[in-house]
Amino acid sequence: MNKAPRNNVITQDPKLRVHNFDEVSQGFTYELMKEEASRCINCKNAPCMKGCPVGVKIPMFIQALNNDNLDKAVSIIKSTNSLPAICGRVCPQEKQCESLCVRKKKLGGSVAIGALERYVGDYALSKEVENKEIVNKKNKKVAIIGSGPAGLSCAGELAINGFDVTVFEAFHKTGGVLTYGIPEFRLPKKEVVQKEISQLKALGINFVTNVIIGKTITLTELREEYDAIFIGSGAGLPMFLGIPGENLNGVYSANEFLTRVNLMGAYKKDSVTPVNIGKNVAIIGAGNVAMDAARTALRLGADNVYVVYRRSKSEIPARQEEVEHAEEEGIKFHLLSNPVEIIGETNVEGLRCQKMKLGEPDASGRARPEPIEGKLFDIEVDEVIVSLGTSPNPLLKQTCKDLEVTPKGTIVVNKDTLETSMPGVYAGGDAVTGAATVILAMGAGRNAAQKIIEKLK
Ligand code: FAD
Ligand code: SF4
Repeated sequence: MNKAPRNNVITQDPKLRVHNFDEVSQGFTYELMKEEASRCINCKNAPCMKGCPVGVKIPMFIQALNNDNLDKAVSIIKSTNSLPAICGRVCPQEKQCESLCVRKKKLGGSVAIGALERYVGDYALSKEVENKEIVNKKNKKVAIIGSGPAGLSCAGELAINGFDVTVFEAFHKTGGVLTYGIPEFRLPKKEVVQKEISQLKALGINFVTNVIIGKTITLTELREEYDAIFIGSGAGLPMFLGIPGENLNGVYSANEFLTRVNLMGAYKKDSVTPVNIGKNVAIIGAGNVAMDAARTALRLGADNVYVVYRRSKSEIPARQEEVEHAEEEGIKFHLLSNPVEIIGETNVEGLRCQKMKLGEPDASGRARPEPIEGKLFDIEVDEVIVSLGTSPNPLLKQTCKDLEVTPKGTIVVNKDTLETSMPGVYAGGDAVTGAATVILAMGAGRNAAQKIIEKLK
């Protein structure tokens, strides 16, 4: 058996990349792709597939790569995952498919499934976008609220099946978090996100930007015009700690910080919505959003960036690759540290933290952080970026009383039909689950499209 170790993707040198926004991971060359694909032993029961939330036929697409049949690899992946160039880059594969690969422990490490998927996705994007004529037109109109992965995958599936689809997006650019959240150095906008969206436009989907459903037009009014609606409005409302000093100058939510930089070009000198970049920046939290904010602050010129997290390294929720990249770039981690006060009079001058230890597991199954009495310490910082998670924006509910939501603000759907409390209105992605992942949002959008197709048949 081929016992070769896992091949690493090519990455930009950390010393260089901290000064630019170019993509850090450059993926596999053709030769590396072939070597890595040949490591897959095509297991009969394909344990890796059980780890993929949308059931990508992993060994089948890898065998197509072994046979140099890239077109076949594209169609195998796209039969269940419409955004492979994106998922190949941002899915937490080490916790999903790769965690179940039989090669993981004794055979040189899991097959690099994510990097192979990215190779296939990039190949698909390198082809000219052609306008596709959709046969079997249904003469039914569906509106999609939000152009993130949930909305995009729902729109794509409906359009292929002959529905007239219009996507309404509140911002001036489409893509949701893929555009305004995840930074360019992890997910290139022009080469990847906008190209994926061009392929959807080629299916005849109509994108309308700068329209906020609930302000420009209400959900009820929209429902009167369309045969069905899908809500994929995400979870963009940031949470805060509620500690003293959180309203000082120099405190941002990670969402605002990243949106200003990614969407509004705040890093440019003439930006109308600039961000203040401190010399010493603390990021509170350790998820993907926190890593993105930390690495963005570093690239914008901060001297020191600290990630402050109340649990230990093994509980960090961010993708492993992002944590490794952050460490390589010089981000410092204050683990088992819980912020209790942001110090300062008008501007941020420091962050006071409580030292923690780990106790018994809590409701989330992770060890509960407990304070070590009397152990407080200060970090000298002039900027604090809070990255504690997000919840759905309440606007839709506030302007449409018929839409049922949970006490946390997530939209209630029937588990079988994916329909909300309003007949003909479906929902999925972060708006239903709370902040989760791209692949789960994409899967939810696709499933909802299937339900809409069944209903409108
Ligand atoms: P979103 O992507 O949030 O899209 C919702 C869209 O709806 C937005 O464009 C919004 O403007 C629009 N909208 C909202 N309300 C309205 C309205 N009333 N009218 C019109 N439009 C509206 N996941 C991963 O799997 N891997 C990662 O590495 C990863 N990194 C992340 C990094 C950051 C910085 C962030 C913020 C998230 C990250 N995630 C990651 C999570 C992932 O991006 C989300 O789970 C996913 O984007 C959710 O998709 P969605 O379509 O439900 O919502
Ligand atoms: Fe290939 Fe690993 Fe999946 Fe087996 S578990 S089919 S080796 S990717």
